[in-house]
Amino acid sequence: MLQVENLRFAYVSDQPVLRDVTFGLNGGDVLCVLGPNGTGKTTLLRCLLGLSRPAGGRIVLDGKDMSTVSSRARAEYMAYVPQASTIAFPYEAEEIVLMGRIAHLRVGASPSKKDESICREAMESLGISHLRRKMFNRLSGGERQMVLVARAMAQQAHIMAMDEPTANLDYGNQVRILRLVHHLAEEGYSILLITHFPDHAFLACNQAVLMKDGLVKARGSPEEVITSESLTRLYGTEVNVTEAPLCGCGLTAKVCVPLMSNGGRGEATT
Ligand code: ADP
Repeated sequence: MLQVENLRFAYVSDQPVLRDVTFGLNGGDVLCVLGPNGTGKTTLLRCLLGLSRPAGGRIVLDGKDMSTVSSRARAEYMAYVPQASTIAFPYEAEEIVLMGRIAHLRVGASPSKKDESICREAMESLGISHLRRKMFNRLSGGERQMVLVARAMAQQAHIMAMDEPTANLDYGNQVRILRLVHHLAEEGYSILLITHFPDHAFLACNQAVLMKDGLVKARGSPEEVITSESLTRLYGTEVNVTEAPLCGCGLTAKVCVPLMSNGGRGEATT
């Protein structure tokens, strides 16, 4: 569905940021991109969304080279879910969701009844209809994130690119967003998820890409590529990937535990 081939990008010509990025995303995949700060994850997203023009390589969506399509056409394939920060203007939640319809409107046209009903359906399916008339900036972080997902659903693109959707959310809301990601994939969306939490890959993703210094260091299933060794190398700090028992039912889940130095509580004992 989405194929990123040997993607290269530089803000300054002799300082490459994306050096040779290759990965694929199929229908129903949830792919997380992990990597330290400054590694090029946001730049990758900017290239995918058509906000930055790659210096080389290709982005192919449903067989179409994205360098040949308009940003409006690109929006039919991919919707962007930013972090749930506040915005400068006093919009109601429903108005934010309606913005997802912009790519479908003729220039200067207002949203139609059909656009409005698509937005209402998106909010209803996420259980947030009661937020319609509330001011976006007055919602909690978790509610704002749900509204932004509803906006992406209203755009009716099959791929959602999510930039750290759990950042700044409390633990309960993080779990709710991960459950939602899982549910959206079951509904047929493909999701590219940038996250700083490797545990989230085990909880919600079936694919993982580890990036560092503009290069893909590993890609595959989270179980294959997220290991104690790969995380320790990726983040430059010792991490142990281990199995934790689940609810006494014989099942286990993988979790990432950083090893603390100076007698921290996570220090290995023998
Ligand atoms: P990440 O999202 O992984 O933290 P970014 O894609 O934001 O990384 O940044 C990758 C590199 O590109 C960093 O070195 C950053 O300083 C640089 N960079 C990001 N935006 C710009 C810009 N607008 N102009 C110049 N350099 C930039």
